[in-house]
Amino acid sequence: MSLTAQDHRILLNDGNNIPIIGLGTYSAPRITAKDACYHAVKVAIDVGYRHFDGALVYGNEDEVGRAVREKIDDGTVRRDDIFYCGKLWNTYHPPEMVRGTLEKSLKLLKFDYMDLYIIELPLAFKPGDVIYPRDESGNFLYAPTDLCATWEVECHPYFPQPKLKEFCDSHGIVIVGYSPLGTCRDSLWVNTKIPSLLDDPVLNSVAARHQKTSAQVALRFLAQRNVVAIPKSFNPERIKQNFEIFDFSLTSEEMKQINALNRNERYVELLMWKDHPEYPFNEEY
Ligand code: NDP
Repeated sequence: MSLTAQDHRILLNDGNNIPIIGLGTYSAPRITAKDACYHAVKVAIDVGYRHFDGALVYGNEDEVGRAVREKIDDGTVRRDDIFYCGKLWNTYHPPEMVRGTLEKSLKLLKFDYMDLYIIELPLAFKPGDVIYPRDESGNFLYAPTDLCATWEVECHPYFPQPKLKEFCDSHGIVIVGYSPLGTCRDSLWVNTKIPSLLDDPVLNSVAARHQKTSAQVALRFLAQRNVVAIPKSFNPERIKQNFEIFDFSLTSEEMKQINALNRNERYVELLMWKDHPEYPFNEEY
């Protein structure tokens, strides 16, 4: 497989293709400046990113859409150069709500279509526009879930998911790895007992050998396994850095060393929803 900054799309089993690196756009609204996402997406398009990972609940699809449309208007890209993935939130699982919810996102983005639309989490909540519905005692209000339609999984050197990867490979399914740098370590939803991935000594020593950073090594590791990664950054230097993974490669010995970092532990455990009858992470994969 030869991946370059200009051509790093990988084939899907329906004939479509997906850029192997995308920009994650989730950033906690309580600490994120207005238009931070808009500026990040514009920088990312200039750097060469063509894949953007977003969602209605991230609260910034309007900013993603505005940035993409401006880069189309100035002639940098065409709409069909861009791969946009949106997500259906937990309170919109009933089939009759799916189309309207997708259309809400399209309206915010001012796009005619999305390239991929996925179920954000395999946990249905009480349907409606209250994003985190709770009863009077503060308990979350759940609803039944259809787990079969759920595809997206966390993936990085501490959680490389070898068994799931083998299953997906045997069925021609491509994995998109979220939190590929080990998350932003927001203790509201991240298991911060797991050490910071980017501080890992092995990743850092491999990085030093290649004059790269641990983030670049983590992303290159996923790319060499044919796993799509969607690192989030709203910082221009780091957006650029995370895209500069096509000018070096890891040896098979280095791939083995990084594979051995597997802790089989998730950063995104979502323990606050562990009592949901369909809580997915009790299953091995
Ligand atoms: P990531 O693993 O992408 O890490 C993001 C954090 O790393 C941010 O704090 C960012 O800060 C920092 N960072 C980015 N680049 C570098 C670098 N080169 N060196 C050091 N630090 C860096 O975490 P996410 O959990 O955000 O996952 C990525 C995306 O995946 C999300 O944004 C979202 O789109 C998607 N996602 C989907 C989920 C789902 O349930 N479907 C769940 C979780 C994520 P800064 O911005 O300051 O650079």
